[in-house]
Amino acid sequence: MGSHGTRSLVALGVIAAASACSPTVPAVRKASVAMAVPPTTSVAGWSYGEDAGGKRVMGQSGGGFDLPYAAFGRIRRTELAQGHVEVAMFPGAIRDEKAVLEWVERSARVVDAFYGGFPIPRVLLLVQPVPGRRVGFGTTMGSSGAAIEVPVGEDVTPEALRDDWMLVHEMVHTALPDLTRTHHWLEEGLATYIEPLARSHAGLVTPNELWREWVVGMPQGQPSAGDLGLDRTRTWGRTYWGGALFCLAADIEIRERTNNRRSLVDAVRAIVAHGGNISVSWPIEKVLEVGDAATGVPVLRETYARMATRPEAVDLTRLWSRLGVRLERGNVSYDDAAPLASIRRSMTQPL
Ligand SMILES: [Zn+2]
Repeated sequence: MGSHGTRSLVALGVIAAASACSPTVPAVRKASVAMAVPPTTSVAGWSYGEDAGGKRVMGQSGGGFDLPYAAFGRIRRTELAQGHVEVAMFPGAIRDEKAVLEWVERSARVVDAFYGGFPIPRVLLLVQPVPGRRVGFGTTMGSSGAAIEVPVGEDVTPEALRDDWMLVHEMVHTALPDLTRTHHWLEEGLATYIEPLARSHAGLVTPNELWREWVVGMPQGQPSAGDLGLDRTRTWGRTYWGGALFCLAADIEIRERTNNRRSLVDAVRAIVAHGGNISVSWPIEKVLEVGDAATGVPVLRETYARMATRPEAVDLTRLWSRLGVRLERGNVSYDDAAPLASIRRSMTQPL
């Protein structure tokens, strides 16, 4: 959920950089920011890298003033996932803090397994305690660094944490370069599509739950009257589920055209391997090209050409039938004689 590249001051005690896109910020090659903090104040997300002189630096972007995000104040820091995730806990009283840290570690493992490695060297995870028993909607921010802000209920239960999908969704956002607003549907679509798939590989979602979610959810991504294609229709349905529909259609076609030897997984892993993560910005053409090169079939570019500027629907009735998935009165059943049954089975198997 949430948007990428939020370029403003966010939340309590967090400083976020101004953006290179902001017309009010002059382009500077190098700037130093010195900050004195009292000994009781912790700093998280600051030491992103070191410059040649060994000084700790936050941003290392081209000509702009892009910086990742840091938190200051009475925060407690913990490093998880082999140092890939720096957790900064804001002041507050989360009752079961151990369960929260386990949830972060588990979510990181799910994403790590899907991508064959954690997709970004380091992400700052800002945990903001809020009243309640649930995990709230998170926000992922990029630009020469990565940070995820997520509100967590002070009385959150281990069950709510076990069932949570939000943090995996946000972590999946770190595995794609920042795209322009026009292509926001691909950012949300990939996260919406990959999150349940990755959790199913880890055994946190059953295949029945995954297929039920998709059979029920995917129709929300179809174009309705007046639709102008994914690039030009900024509704909730087209952004999240329309993007997921693009991913599903492409994934199945890649698998069909490669005899199930390649899939969307190969494409997204290749994007990360080419340095494509949320700390950088890429044009969508580069994302699609790198992905297609990894699968050996130009499915991403072809699917984009069909769906970007036209109200192209996906024939879901036919697709579910070819995959051999049926949903009747809330119950999922399978037809193993369906032409794509083996593709369906392999999709939810651990990688
Ligand atoms: Zn999202």
